[in-house]
Amino acid sequence: MITMKDIIREGDPILREVASEVDLPPSEENKETLEEMLQYLKNSQDEQICDRYNLRPGVGLAAPQIGLSKRMLAVHFTDFNEKLYSYGLFNPRIVSHSVEKAYLTSGEGCLSVDREVPGYVPRYARVTIKATDLEGNEVKLRLRDFAAIVFQHEIDHLNGVMFYDHIDPDNPFKEPENAKPLDH
Ligand code: ZN
Repeated sequence: MITMKDIIREGDPILREVASEVDLPPSEENKETLEEMLQYLKNSQDEQICDRYNLRPGVGLAAPQIGLSKRMLAVHFTDFNEKLYSYGLFNPRIVSHSVEKAYLTSGEGCLSVDREVPGYVPRYARVTIKATDLEGNEVKLRLRDFAAIVFQHEIDHLNGVMFYDHIDPDNPFKEPENAKPLDH
């Protein structure tokens, strides 16, 4: 079971690496790891398990955050419309995106960052993602708003990018251009 002691924190160079593509079909080992990553997110959102194991709640986790420089990510969350997004994905990639951007008015957080980093993080408002799921099927996901933001945050981790890299250092709360604010 993955707990906070397994989570790599900022400052570790692995979080700045471009992760490697996973061979497909995925090996049993990679599948098991990705299932454990998804389970971490589920556990972290269960009040009892979260308390017992001192987990920090999270909606997304990328393999570099547990010390594996591989293109794998897990997400588990519901969006504004209560739609559940629960996926373990291999080699996810953004195949198209909107011109319009969106940002969370509360900013973003990260299991690898043990501090508040205030500021707006501009993201694409809509993205289409292709990936291979835990069952080995090719999937195509059309995402918008909060869901699009979560996936972009996690895909960034596969490219060595942290959410605060997108924050304007001179004016963290400057309204990004052509972007809609989202409350979550
Ligand atoms: Zn993160």
